[in-house]
Amino acid sequence: MERLNTKELVKKYGFRFTKSLGQNFLVDPTVVRDIIEGSNITKADHVIEIGPGVGTLTRALLEAAGQVTAVEIDSALIPILKEELKNYDNFRLIEGDVLKTDLKALTQGAPVKVVANLPYYVTTPILLRLLEEDFPWQSITIMIQKEVAMRLNAGPGTKDYGSLSVLISYYADTELIRLVTPVSFIPQPKVDSLVIRLDRRSQRRVAPKDEQLFFQLVRQSFAMRRKTLHNTLKPMGIDPVIMADSFAAAGIDPGRRGETLTIEEFARLSDEIKERLGHEENQ
Ligand code: SAM
Repeated sequence: MERLNTKELVKKYGFRFTKSLGQNFLVDPTVVRDIIEGSNITKADHVIEIGPGVGTLTRALLEAAGQVTAVEIDSALIPILKEELKNYDNFRLIEGDVLKTDLKALTQGAPVKVVANLPYYVTTPILLRLLEEDFPWQSITIMIQKEVAMRLNAGPGTKDYGSLSVLISYYADTELIRLVTPVSFIPQPKVDSLVIRLDRRSQRRVAPKDEQLFFQLVRQSFAMRRKTLHNTLKPMGIDPVIMADSFAAAGIDPGRRGETLTIEEFARLSDEIKERLGHEENQ
């Protein structure tokens, strides 16, 4: 069958873009090539693609990977994908919202690599779902809005550093792959994009005694960026004496701002709080 490019496919099927679904389709073959190369996929891999569109990236994935499962929400794209990719017996298409799909069931427990040109309106919810659910991802290679990618990749003391940076570094090592400008898409988005790969760490970067408390502490520490930790952590409702003792024991000045703390310092502070809260509960 003749291979049509993105623009030709959109024309052939008279496809109409839905802006609210974040539909910006790739038209630049060099970006497709760099995503495939950057994702390190081989014929041994099962890839999950989120939002295949008219299948531009999907076709390249089908040729590089062992198996590809794609999840697409727009029912108008389903017949196009079925027709255009019918010659690939390693392709499975799921119609649905990735946020409501049982991703773990798609993998049957075996490790997978996620590759996607993500719809930007749901980047963070999709990422949180992939990371926090018990889903066996090995790597996640995604094209996302540049500003969000910078946040995922940021370290302490920088303007991009936030709770998302800490969360990502807890689970993964990150690698920026390339910048993609609006001309690589139809229709063109208003912002630059970056391709970034997250590689799952074999061990979490830190091992807090209470993971829930650790994440609560991280989120709250960035809730009011201009305030000191002493002030911004007050809404957690922890006894001020316990807080003061925990800061002292962790060797962290409560006059610092959350954005200056390393992930190790967050873990240390959360463990000191946990220990004192535990003592209080046992009394
Ligand atoms: N992969 C194609 C490409 O690179 O040309 C399309 C990428 S486009 C940025 C995002 C795709 O995600 C669209 O096909 C859109 O319909 C789909 N999408 C949007 N929200 C989704 C959701 N919640 N679940 C699954 N797919 C979604």
